[in-house]
Amino acid sequence: MPEEHAKLSASGSKKWINCPASIAMESKFPDESSEYAKEGTTAHSLGEAKLKLALNHITRVQYHKMIRSLDITEDMEEYTDSYRDFVLERYNAVKSQCEDAQIHLERRLDFSEWVPDGFGTGDTVIIGGGIIEIIDLKYGQGVKVSADKNSQLRIYGLGALSEYDYLYDIHKVNLTIFQPRLDNIDTETLTRDELIKWGEDLKPKAVLANSGDGDCIAGRHCDDGFCKARAVCRAYAEEKNRLATMVFKPPLELTEDEIAEVIDQAENLAKWSKLVKDYALEQALNNGVKYPGFKVVEGRSNRKYAEDDSKIADVLIKAGYDEKSIYKKEILNITKMEALLSRARFNELLGEYVIKPQGKPTLVRSEDKRPEWNSAEKAAEDFKDIK
Ligand code: SF4
Repeated sequence: MPEEHAKLSASGSKKWINCPASIAMESKFPDESSEYAKEGTTAHSLGEAKLKLALNHITRVQYHKMIRSLDITEDMEEYTDSYRDFVLERYNAVKSQCEDAQIHLERRLDFSEWVPDGFGTGDTVIIGGGIIEIIDLKYGQGVKVSADKNSQLRIYGLGALSEYDYLYDIHKVNLTIFQPRLDNIDTETLTRDELIKWGEDLKPKAVLANSGDGDCIAGRHCDDGFCKARAVCRAYAEEKNRLATMVFKPPLELTEDEIAEVIDQAENLAKWSKLVKDYALEQALNNGVKYPGFKVVEGRSNRKYAEDDSKIADVLIKAGYDEKSIYKKEILNITKMEALLSRARFNELLGEYVIKPQGKPTLVRSEDKRPEWNSAEKAAEDFKDIK
């Protein structure tokens, strides 16, 4: 669930841990909620309501009241069903070992012992048998989120320890990402002591970020954390310029390490120039800022029908054209067809008619979970369905 706003939030921790000035820099920009963020909020509310209903924390009438105003799609129904089922499975597994296992949904977690005034909301917290499990629903479908060394999850883990450690004699913490749209379930397991040690190392970084005295330090966290200050941040611009000078050198003049850095950042360079351009346009339009050598004009556009398709067809049919010649008939693509039929019905009717052609070789970061091209692991995966 998106957090109420703590100054040092768990979700923004990758930024403030690596760049202590990011809190002050971002505070100059308004909070803008994107369509994706709204969709994520809706999915969280629906997932929470489904779990509460399944756990008998609410009645069916209360459930309908909770979801009445939500803008729910068919896909979202399926994905939140799988979140509910996954959480229940994990909870029941703990319960089978420990009768008084507990589950808390959308739990406020106070981690101020490590982060000044720090608090946030854990989607699901399960406690039992000396183990805490945090399950974080990620509704995004852009980038797979890893649980490994995930500072947001670890901070939630600290918050949960702060509340439950003394009551339940915790010795282990499981931190899980559940990202249904990318079939991604990933867990990091830490002992209580490992997590506490990590929290102690975090303390001075949190204090520095909170003080506003730290420097801007650019790195992958700027883009991974969608820092709002990227369009104007000098450290970020210098970092991109350093990379740009490498990008424009012939590859033979670069070392392998430099090439790796360019591959890693090339996409972000393009995104950065777009960010700066969008920011400048917004400033020019809304605040009258003038940039030397530039002006705002109307962009090029293509012709389009001013009426809907049926009106255009009416005109043509009345003029003697037949329907076949004016319409293009096309089957829906897989994503849209799945949305129309539901995933289960799609698989039942069309599962055997869907193939997945081999993807082209592509360079990705080594942390990527896909097996390496031409490795034994990849061969095993390719042949796993062949008896
Ligand atoms: S863009 Fe990067 S370096 Fe600049 S404030 Fe944001 S996180 Fe820090």
